[in-house]
Amino acid sequence: ARLANQIAAGEVVERPASVIKELIENSLDAGATRIDIEVDKGGHKRILVRDNGSGIPEQELQLALSRHATSKITSLDDLEQIISLGFRGEALASISAVARLTLSSKPSSQQQGWQAKAEGRDMTVSLAPVAHPDGTSIEVLDLFFNTPARRKFLRTEKTEFAHIDEIVRRVALSRFDVAFSLKHNGKILRQYPQAMNEQAREKRVGLICGRKLMDDALKVQSEFQQLQLHGWLCTTPQPQNDVQYFYVNGRMMRDKLINHAIRQAFEGWLPADFHPAFVLYLQLDAKEVDVNVHPAKHEVRFHQSRMVHDFIFRAVRDMLEKISG
Ligand code: ADP
Ligand code: MG
Repeated sequence: ARLANQIAAGEVVERPASVIKELIENSLDAGATRIDIEVDKGGHKRILVRDNGSGIPEQELQLALSRHATSKITSLDDLEQIISLGFRGEALASISAVARLTLSSKPSSQQQGWQAKAEGRDMTVSLAPVAHPDGTSIEVLDLFFNTPARRKFLRTEKTEFAHIDEIVRRVALSRFDVAFSLKHNGKILRQYPQAMNEQAREKRVGLICGRKLMDDALKVQSEFQQLQLHGWLCTTPQPQNDVQYFYVNGRMMRDKLINHAIRQAFEGWLPADFHPAFVLYLQLDAKEVDVNVHPAKHEVRFHQSRMVHDFIFRAVRDMLEKISG
């Protein structure tokens, strides 16, 4: 079982940022409205994700750490959706196979918080009471301590932190209703307060993408049949393509078709080597999209790809034509 866990861990746990991604997703699934993340040494030494979500009952703590123990599948319909989202009940098991994991939690219905510790080698879990506010904390120490081959692939502290920062940005741009904070080596580097109105949302986008960029951003709001596109588009050309966030029904995507539509819309507006910056959200009927079953790939297949392509192209191009008079 240990080997199986470690092999599976390779899929979910590639680096500290992938651990954080899984933990944040769990917190969001638990209905958290505030998620605080702490990392030391690029996450290699220590990762802590704390949320104010629904918590895990004492009697389910141990189960949460075992493979294929998801509490999220209730019907076959769910199963399909869950697979596509990568919810397979193995993140915690995988992480604990390659690190020292401590899970502390208190559902509001419980008087006392409880803590479960699991450590790579034999996967033994020990339980003890702990003082904890409503919600869950997961601490991951010494990632890959027992898998030197994986440890070798870790990059510098700075690079690993940059990956973490990017993961947090991506989520923060998709969940304005949740507050996030990110600490590195004891210093709070990012704080994204809950953003419940348009002004607050724009402020968050500015924090993430750069104030300057947002100053000349255009607001996109477009609709065609079942398709809706909204968000922000920056017409100042960027030397890099790092501010390109596109969400399909709330999930971040990096997709050829989408990129092509946007590029094409910008043709003639941007010099060849420059990139547009955007934060865009496409909403469409869930039945019209297939998300790649591999959770790490950010690709999507639209059933009516031509229509989606042309819709995005049109929405962006209209915007550009409007401002150029
Ligand atoms: P999955 O998310 O696919 O169900 P995980 O291994 O990521 O599998 O988590 C296992 C289970 O542990 C979840 O189904 C959930 O019941 C519980 N869990 C994990 N993290 C949290 C959290 N932050 N808050 C509440 N429950 C959690
Ligand atoms: Mg999960």
